[in-house]
Amino acid sequence: MAVIFKIDNIECSYGAVKVLNGLTFAIERGSFTGIIGPNGSGKSTLLKSLSRVLKPVKGAVLLDKEDLYSLDIRDVAKKVAVVPQETAVNFSFTVKDVVIMGRSPHLGLLQNEGEKDFAVARLAMELTNTYHLADRPITAISGGERQRVIIAKALAQEPRIILLDEPTSHLDINHQIEILSLLRRLNRENNLTIISVFHDLNLASQYCDSLILMNNGSIFTIGEPDEALTMENIKEVYGANVLVRKHPVTGRPSVVLLSQDSQPGLQKGRVHVVCGGGAGAAILGLLAGHGYDISAGVLNAGDVDWETARFLGVKTADETPFLPISERSHQENLKLIGEAEVCILVNIPFGRGNLKNLEALSLALERSIPVLIIEEQEIGERDFTGGKAAQIYNSLIEKGAVVLNDKAALVDMLKDIIPVKSQPSDLQADNQ
Ligand code: ADP
Repeated sequence: MAVIFKIDNIECSYGAVKVLNGLTFAIERGSFTGIIGPNGSGKSTLLKSLSRVLKPVKGAVLLDKEDLYSLDIRDVAKKVAVVPQETAVNFSFTVKDVVIMGRSPHLGLLQNEGEKDFAVARLAMELTNTYHLADRPITAISGGERQRVIIAKALAQEPRIILLDEPTSHLDINHQIEILSLLRRLNRENNLTIISVFHDLNLASQYCDSLILMNNGSIFTIGEPDEALTMENIKEVYGANVLVRKHPVTGRPSVVLLSQDSQPGLQKGRVHVVCGGGAGAAILGLLAGHGYDISAGVLNAGDVDWETARFLGVKTADETPFLPISERSHQENLKLIGEAEVCILVNIPFGRGNLKNLEALSLALERSIPVLIIEEQEIGERDFTGGKAAQIYNSLIEKGAVVLNDKAALVDMLKDIIPVKSQPSDLQADNQ
């Protein structure tokens, strides 16, 4: 692929204050690049230096091998369009007036727009699904629509590159996805090069081919999303504890923020969760957030708890979807239970298919492995085995299982059962 932008060792300052420090990288034609990093790390400043707004005090920005700052501003505008962060438009221009303004770099000083200009503007509105708004005042449409209009104006410039500064940060999630999907379509179908600042790491991961992670005015790392978005990089740059997992649908890295008091660097010991159907997903997330090594089972492959376990890198004993627990998966479950320091029974219904999970917990207690039961609903109301499940369940309590009435008490209880060991965990190893 050909390089469209070459950034060679640039430094940028506001007055005497240096803000960007010797940045060097190249942008390939037709790529979709995200710029990420904490507030104040220099993302917007970098974008300004690429849009010919802030001339670097040192180094060079080459657009198609030519020095960006030696080029005529109108020639740059024919190639590069900019979509700012928030678009406050105070004048009551109509949507089509705003979009046609995008043609100005292509017009002579006093030249009026011609047929071609109107055709390009119309196409830009069609692409952004704003043509039906053409005669509406820009002040009388929603934020999401306005942002699409500004993108239409940028497209009317017929640029080869679009630079965007957090284009969707003020929009709700469905409008964010709508705009980013549009940008990706233009990127893929029209070979438009896109460089965008992102606040949301998961959106950046999902839409970009490559990410520039900024830190203190320098590039901390640059690479594909799974190279840039590692737990170590995020910890180092943002100072935040996160879990990074492969997203089950997109295959891209997915970042999960952990709770403030979680310490993913500490291995706290194994907790085995008996759940199923979706009743255990929140508990699995809670335990992962607190850094526990987790196993779960027996789960029917494909159900919500199983999917959650996969996502969090939890070890599981699996059964074929919809089949009752077989002897094989029961034994696998017992093996996981044998490795655990404590078992948790989530508030699930029992039928003949999953009765063996209760029997497994009975064996856990016989082996002196503590069992905590989360009981949000009485067992009688969720026993579909004609009383067998209730009988085993009550015998668990007689043998010493502790009943908790909600999830909130669980973490405190676990702290008492499993002392924290200072041993580095291997969470990152599961992050493929
Ligand atoms: P980001 O986009 O990552 O939040 P910015 O590029 O906006 O970061 O800012 C980088 C640094 O430059 C910050 O310390 C910020 O305070 C400073 N800065 C940004 N704009 C100006 C400005 N116009 N004048 C002086 N300092 C600025």
